[in-house]
Amino acid sequence: DMGRLQKLNDTCWTVPMAPGERRGPVLLYGSEPLLAGMDDKVLEQITNVAKLPGLVGAAMTMPDAHWGYGFPIGGVAAFDADQGGIISAGGVGFDISCGVRTLRSNLMLSDANGKLEALADALYHRIPAGVGEEGELKLSTTELDAVLLGGAEWAVRHGYGISEDLEYIEERGRMGGAHPEYVSDLAKRRQRGEMGTLGSGNHYLEVQVVDRIHDAAAATAYGLREGQLVVSIHCGSRGLGHQIGTEYLVSLAKAAGRLGITLPDRELACAPIHSPEGQQYIGAMNAAINVALANRQILAQITREVFAHVFPDSRLELLYDVSHNTCKAERHEVDGGERLLWLHRKGATRAFGPGHPAIPERYRAVGQPVIIGGSMGTGSYILAGVAEGEERAFSSASHGAGRAMSRHRALQQWRGRELIDELAGQGILIRTRSMRGVAEEAPGAYKDVDLVAAATEKAGLARRVAFLRPKVCIKG
Ligand code: 5GP
Ligand code: MN
Ligand code: MN
Repeated sequence: DMGRLQKLNDTCWTVPMAPGERRGPVLLYGSEPLLAGMDDKVLEQITNVAKLPGLVGAAMTMPDAHWGYGFPIGGVAAFDADQGGIISAGGVGFDISCGVRTLRSNLMLSDANGKLEALADALYHRIPAGVGEEGELKLSTTELDAVLLGGAEWAVRHGYGISEDLEYIEERGRMGGAHPEYVSDLAKRRQRGEMGTLGSGNHYLEVQVVDRIHDAAAATAYGLREGQLVVSIHCGSRGLGHQIGTEYLVSLAKAAGRLGITLPDRELACAPIHSPEGQQYIGAMNAAINVALANRQILAQITREVFAHVFPDSRLELLYDVSHNTCKAERHEVDGGERLLWLHRKGATRAFGPGHPAIPERYRAVGQPVIIGGSMGTGSYILAGVAEGEERAFSSASHGAGRAMSRHRALQQWRGRELIDELAGQGILIRTRSMRGVAEEAPGAYKDVDLVAAATEKAGLARRVAFLRPKVCIKG
C-alpha cells in the first residue's frame, strides 16, 4: 500500500486526502527502506487517528512505527481539550508508562572482564522477571495507594535509591493528577506483589557498553564515554496498567457512544478530555505512570546492590528515565501561539530540545536524553532532543527499533536455546526464564536500529549521541 504515500522529503511522507475524506493530516517519519518495510496497518491506523475529534496538527508515526492496538506503536497525536479533543486508552497503550531508564556506571568494560558471567547470574537471581513473577515487596491497599500517588518519590522514601535520582526522571519522578479512586480494586490487587518486577517478553534489564560516540559534547554532558558500562531497564506498570487499559477501553467506548462520537475503528475507543470518563481515565493513567516510575526506581536500586556485590567500588548514576506510553498535557507552539495540548505518545518518547525547562539543568543546554532500545543482539542508542523536533512532532521521537514481524512469526523462525548460544558466541550473555520469550524477541524480529536512529536524526526528531552494545541481558 506504499502507493498511497506521498513523499514530502527524504524522511517525511504523507497520505493525500481522498475526495470527500474528512480528517486531519498524517505524517509518517522514516527513510525510504523503513517506510517500504512498514506494515500496511500502520497507514490505515494513523489515518483513522487523524479522524478523531480535536486533533491539532498531524497524526504522526515515528521511524520505528508498527501495527498496534488502535493507534500504531510509534504513534503521536495531539488534542485540544477545549476543541472537543479526546483521550484514548489505545493511544496510550496497555502498558501505561512503559519506558526505559539508563544508568551510567563508573566501570569500563575492561574492569568487568572475567566477571560478566557472575554479574549475569547475580542479576538473574535478584531481578524478578517473567509472567506473574512476584517481587520482594508485598503492599497493602493503603501502601499501594501511596505508590499510585508518589511514584519514584515513594520508592526513594522507602529506601530505593537517592533523592538525586528524581532529578533525572520525567516529572521529577512523580506524576501529578493521579487518582487512585479511579483505579479498580482488581487493578490494585493485581499489582500488590508485582512492584519491583520486570515483567515478560520485551522487557529487559541490560548491561551495555558504550561502543561509539556520535556527539562528543552531548556525551560529555550525559556523562558517557567510549568503553564505559551502562545499564538500561525497560519495563512498565505491570498488571495494574494492563487492567486499567482493559477496563477503560470499555468505559471510554461507552462514553463515545453516549456522546455520539463516531469511531473509525472500535479499537480507538475514546472520550472527550472534558468528559467524566475522560477525566477518570486520566486520573487512573497518571496513577499507573507513578507505578511504572516506582517500578523502574526499585529495579534500579536492586541493580545497584547487585553491582556493589560483584564490583565493590561500583557506582550507578541515573542518566535518565523516559516513558514511551503516555498521554500528557504540555504547552506547544501552534501557528505562532502557545497552546495546551494533550500529547498521546504510544511507543514514542518525549524529546524536548535544548533549553526546555523540564530538562534537568545538567543537560539543559544539550537537550533531553532520548533512549532507543534496539534488540538484545544488535544494540541501542542514546539520543538528544533537538529544537526542530518541536515543529516536526511536538518534541517526540522513536522509542525502539520497532518490530519488523509478529511474535507469532518470530516463534516459527527462531528457537530460544539456539539464539542464546549464538549470542553467547558473540560475547552477549542472556539470562531468561522463558525460551519462548527469547525467540519472540529475536534480534531479527526487529527493524534495523541503526536505520531507525539515523532516520530519527535526519528527520529532525532527535540527534544521536551514543551507540550501546549489549553485554548481559536479563529477559522478562
Ligand atoms: P516496546 O516498548 O515497543 O515493547 O519495545 C521497545 C523497543 O525495545 C522495541 O522496539 C525493541 O527495539 C527494543 N527491544 C526489545 N527487546 C530488547 C532487548 O532485549 N534489548 C534491547 N536493547 N532492546 C530491546
Ligand atoms: Mn511494556
Ligand atoms: Mn516499552
